[in-house]
Amino acid sequence: MSPDILYTVKGPKNLFEMTWEEVEEALEKTDIVILPVGSVEQHGPHLPLGSDSIQGTDMARRVVAELAKEGITVVAAPTIPFGVSHHHMKFPGPITLSSDTLIAVIWEVVDSLYHHGFRRFVLLLSHGGNLKTMLVAAQDLSIEYPDAYFIVPDWIPVQSAMYPEVLKSERPNDEHHSGEGETARMLASTPNLVNMEKAPVYYVPVELDPYQPRPYPGSVAREHGEVGMKEMTPTGVMGNAKLATAETGEVLYGIITDWLCSVIKAEFVEK
Ligand SMILES: [Zn+2]
Repeated sequence: MSPDILYTVKGPKNLFEMTWEEVEEALEKTDIVILPVGSVEQHGPHLPLGSDSIQGTDMARRVVAELAKEGITVVAAPTIPFGVSHHHMKFPGPITLSSDTLIAVIWEVVDSLYHHGFRRFVLLLSHGGNLKTMLVAAQDLSIEYPDAYFIVPDWIPVQSAMYPEVLKSERPNDEHHSGEGETARMLASTPNLVNMEKAPVYYVPVELDPYQPRPYPGSVAREHGEVGMKEMTPTGVMGNAKLATAETGEVLYGIITDWLCSVIKAEFVEK
């Protein structure tokens, strides 16, 4: 095995990497746990299928490290690698769960963590398509475990609002799945899994773009089973992935981490 693919941990260990004694020690200081919920889905010809789960693991690790600087202990759980990715299934490789199954997986992971003493749960979005399912899971779990507290922070709009300032793209509001921002984060996390020679530039035609403003005010959930990612983008990419750099990725992770830390502190620590 070449040394660069050996298992390496950048930053504090998560529960997957800790010993039981280390978990015991952490539980003496905290009952806060971060549970990232990712996906295995196509991310263009240049990024691995595990991109969302890799970023979720990295985000949780960065949050643990940042809060530790302020003397606040939180534990990162292993990322649930599978999510709701049915809209990617026309590409080779993605693995999708039904919403019911994902709720059951989150439920039983939370149940195990609760058993060990964790009470405050950060269900960390690490694939946008999981959001609705995670909200339902949190709502149901809070009824089953009345002494536990669940938050589901959606960092995506927070980060997108900063895209015009941070990205090089001339169309920052059209950078979405596997575009400049996400490719940049992957370059910051696992550059050895990014093939920039294959990074595409592809913008979804306006009539197929789900992010285009709608001709009415308000927020409306729209579902259409026949129009998936393949119809919207033959490369699987939405944006200009060629412009991505690890430096941009670090800036984006900084924005996300700062926001997540402020949310966790406001909801769990400063109360
Ligand atoms: Zn992604």
